[in-house]
Amino acid sequence: MAVKWTKGPVIQDAAAFWEIEGQVFDPVPVYYNQGDGKTFRPLSYQVMCPHCGALWARRTVTYGDPIKSPFKGYLPQIWSMRLIHCKDCKQDAALYAGGLWQSYDPGWNASLPYAALIREVFLITAEKN
Ligand SMILES: [Zn+2]
Repeated sequence: MAVKWTKGPVIQDAAAFWEIEGQVFDPVPVYYNQGDGKTFRPLSYQVMCPHCGALWARRTVTYGDPIKSPFKGYLPQIWSMRLIHCKDCKQDAALYAGGLWQSYDPGWNASLPYAALIREVFLITAEKN
């Protein structure tokens, strides 16, 4: 059975810095992810298009003061990768191309900057025209 993920509490002193298609956004709060009875801290991500290979978005998560951190000074920068089609390489099953909204990951969605959500609306609108 698939794990149902939920957005956990905000992480004090942590921030996510987004860069999407070369545009840098103001830092936003980050949240724990919870699922399968466990709590996970969010990672930094590089977003790559699985069709053309473009590295078109990045989310860098920082954890602020290591003394005050809930991770008690343990602050490794852990990177992972997500494969999401860029806006030039629409996936057949996708509602629209180049979107960062991930229906299965509420913690990820909660850390999207407001301007990135507006971008999603523009992508949906462009798809319908
Ligand atoms: Zn692409």
